[in-house]
Amino acid sequence: MKFDIYLFDLDGTLLHLGNIRHYAGKILMEALKRLRAKYPPTGDEKFKLWTSQQGYLKVLEGWGVEEPQNFWKFFDEIDFEKRKTLIKEKKVYLYQDVNYMLKKIYHHKDSKKLAIVTNTAYYICDFILNKFNIKKFFHETFSLGYYDNDQELAKPSPKGILTILDKFKYDPNESNAILVGDSKLDIIAAKNAKIYACLIRRELNPRNMRYKEWNIQPDFVIEELNELFDLQY
Ligand SMILES: [Mg+2]
Repeated sequence: MKFDIYLFDLDGTLLHLGNIRHYAGKILMEALKRLRAKYPPTGDEKFKLWTSQQGYLKVLEGWGVEEPQNFWKFFDEIDFEKRKTLIKEKKVYLYQDVNYMLKKIYHHKDSKKLAIVTNTAYYICDFILNKFNIKKFFHETFSLGYYDNDQELAKPSPKGILTILDKFKYDPNESNAILVGDSKLDIIAAKNAKIYACLIRRELNPRNMRYKEWNIQPDFVIEELNELFDLQY
């Protein structure tokens, strides 16, 4: 186990959420309904929002939303309700390799550090970590949901990663850090934070099928978490 600090994305990396694009798209449409959007987006137009970061207010205004500042709050509330139901139905669950991997890193003789860096709201993240009994393995968590311009902290911004590294007193000359995530946003965030980036292609997810075309490339590509132990740099 080469790395000293292991950072993990949550959704799609540790937590199976099904087709995340589809899942997020459904929540988006419900949130827009609550916000009484006049021209809700169709098809691919929806995905403008996920890449807009701080520009999300403008995108929402373009769809005729009158109080776009409430969007993420509504989105998270709907997300939370949906997840609770899907967990009960066992459609949302922890990937089966997660517990073993976390235990192995957590109990390693060289005292490794573990953290979550997620764009999901803190109360949802907390619920998930408690629900699946893995909170004890993480020394730190970086999540969103404070609605105070926190979209600028969301991945692909490296700010979440850098905040955690700071807490761990990370010194790149002395130790190595890696972020494991299932999306392009994770890889960009990690590379901007100047740490190793590992793309996990769960079930060969179509979202990251064409990762070779991305302009920022991961250092490692794996399909399951066990492969993490054998990475060489
Ligand atoms: Mg993810």
